[in-house]
Amino acid sequence: MKVGIPKGLLYCKYNDFLTVFFSELGAEVVTSEETNKEILDEGVKYCVDEACLPVKIFHGHVSKLKEKCDIIVLPRIMQLYKNEYICPKFCGLPEMVLNSIDNMPPSITDPIYAFSKKSLYNWAKAAGKKITPNSFIVKNAFIKAYDKHLQSTSGIKDEGYDINVALIGHPYNIYDSYVNMNLVNKLNNLGIGVETMEFTQSLSIDLEIEQLFKKPFWTYLKENYGFAANVLKEKNVEGIIYVSSFNCGTDSVIIELIKNISGSFPFLTLKIDEHTGEAGLNTRIEAFADMLERRVHNESNIPTHG
Ligand code: SF4
Repeated sequence: MKVGIPKGLLYCKYNDFLTVFFSELGAEVVTSEETNKEILDEGVKYCVDEACLPVKIFHGHVSKLKEKCDIIVLPRIMQLYKNEYICPKFCGLPEMVLNSIDNMPPSITDPIYAFSKKSLYNWAKAAGKKITPNSFIVKNAFIKAYDKHLQSTSGIKDEGYDINVALIGHPYNIYDSYVNMNLVNKLNNLGIGVETMEFTQSLSIDLEIEQLFKKPFWTYLKENYGFAANVLKEKNVEGIIYVSSFNCGTDSVIIELIKNISGSFPFLTLKIDEHTGEAGLNTRIEAFADMLERRVHNESNIPTHG
């Protein structure tokens, strides 16, 4: 049996887990290609206009993959951590896709609660049943996939640059180089190193979150705000770049919260959607890079932030 896994949304975080799990069940795993213009165009064609770019792109991946597999994974991610939630678009993603794209193959849409090994195993039991009736094989596949997941690493921490920025945003905007138009390479070519939130300890993030009037219940709001606040305190980078999806509710809150605490610390927001032009993005990055360079080489002019 061929199991299709679309390379959109949080694929960058769970691909090892899913690939090992379904391969160990005896299925052949097929994925869509890396995001490209054709996938974007398909996503825009099938998805509702009001959705954010990452959800549209997910639709594009599904549309390109659906003919190549016998069953397709449409992850309904509910929770990554206890007492926290993920964007509602993830909870309703299977319905969005199944109502927008015709002639879909059977799909795996069981809810994913990933806050513990036990809760994730509940998903594995439900999903595994669609591939094999043998619960022993499912259990073994899950154990191997979970181990692989624990060993998986992600994140960017460039070394050797005089100027560095914290790159913040949802993983599917940071790690999809088509979506962000090769932002990391562009920054590196301008002499700027990049650091992402995976290298900040969760304890430091939690400490920053405790300073807020109310604990956020959206996981990515907590992580992105906590990372930015920690960077502003440690001053271990020269600037912050936030890659945001146009129409994203959580991003609009996070950006305002970061603005509230960043003072005059360099902070650039890049909003992206399917109409974003590369030339405009380049101009904004180059202007930001120039400003960082001037500040670094003329430190007496740097006002204290906060
Ligand atoms: S968090 Fe924002 S960018 Fe991500 S799926 Fe939800 S609306 Fe889209």
